[in-house]
Amino acid sequence: MKKILITGAAGFLGSHLCDRFIDEGFHVIAMDNLITGDLNNISHLFSLSNFEFHHHDVTKFVHVSGKLDYILHFASPASPIDYLKIPIKTLKVGSLGTLNLLGLAKEKGARILVASTSEVYGDPLVHPQNEEYFGNVNPIGPRGVYDEAKRFMESITMAYHRHHGLDTRIVRIFNTYGSRMRLNDGRVVPAFMGQALRGEDLTVFGDGSQSRSFCYIDDQVEGIYRLLFSDYTDPINIGNPHETTIKEFAEEIIALTGTKQKVIYKPLPQDDPTQRQPDITKAKEILGWEPKVHRNEGLKIVYDYFKSLSPEDLQRKEHRDFSTK
Ligand code: NAD
Ligand code: UDP
Repeated sequence: MKKILITGAAGFLGSHLCDRFIDEGFHVIAMDNLITGDLNNISHLFSLSNFEFHHHDVTKFVHVSGKLDYILHFASPASPIDYLKIPIKTLKVGSLGTLNLLGLAKEKGARILVASTSEVYGDPLVHPQNEEYFGNVNPIGPRGVYDEAKRFMESITMAYHRHHGLDTRIVRIFNTYGSRMRLNDGRVVPAFMGQALRGEDLTVFGDGSQSRSFCYIDDQVEGIYRLLFSDYTDPINIGNPHETTIKEFAEEIIALTGTKQKVIYKPLPQDDPTQRQPDITKAKEILGWEPKVHRNEGLKIVYDYFKSLSPEDLQRKEHRDFSTK
């Protein structure tokens, strides 16, 4: 049985990856320090003999006994609200955490895939963003702690690949949504859905003319899965090119949820990218991948998921506070 280590396993993306690799017959070692994640995202796997959970901070030395075939490094705060609350930990997990996992991959002879982001393009001056674009990042702005940690992650991963011949993969993930996101993590999909559920107005930042392109979780997991088993070692964009402005998106959520609330406008956070859309030519050609789930369909699934949560689960998803950790 092939063994895979997934870091950030109790988070949104990590937990869905755990499900996929369990379904594919892998032995999954899930690692997380639970800073933004939630054990409930993976508790349904605890009774399986091919699943183990390690409560561990990957910025500390990472030990796994026995053989290891693959590593997926997904540990990192991922929402602007989260990484503004824990900026130093964000920088550490992208730098020291990545270093530890590359060292582990080298020791075990394992293939490692690291989770990068469209944020490496910053506030992009090229649209849509292709992998050749170097980006437009403000290193000292509030988002810099995340963007630069991910840029360092890519850089050190390529260095291990070139210098040590390590078998590496880099995915640049564009805005992805799905079940298990925290309602209070500040990302726009759970933010708007939480507001609709609570009967609050939807908060659009700025004038809402900034754009994003949202990818459904199952499409994202499929893209990552295909990349891991491809031979391609340069970074590759995985995301859904179907772009919308945030103002239009708020109207979509109002129509979907039937909420009687309106849109209200709040100040635009500093360095909030004005536009974002992945160029997925490479993913199509190299991985034979493209997203299948239309936004209407994906958003409905996720809204039904949030609606189906028990009051206790909703409470936990709304009020979790880790700022003192
Ligand atoms: P998430 O916050 O739900 O999950 C991140 C997980 O990492 C959490 O469970 C958290 O507890 C864990 N973690 C953080 N620091 C850790 C540490 N030092 N040691 C061990 N575990 C640690 O976020 P997500 O949306 O699932 O994002 C997962 C990965 O995907 C991140 O690396 C993120 O940068 C990347 N990504 C996500 C998106 C997206 O749209 N969801 C977009 C681009 C990139
Ligand atoms: N946004 C918004 N209202 C909210 C939360 C987010 O208008 O309540 C905007 C945010 O300013 C950004 C976009 O939605 O322009 C996407 O934000 P998110 O945090 O989901 O992702 P990112 O900015 O990292 O792409």
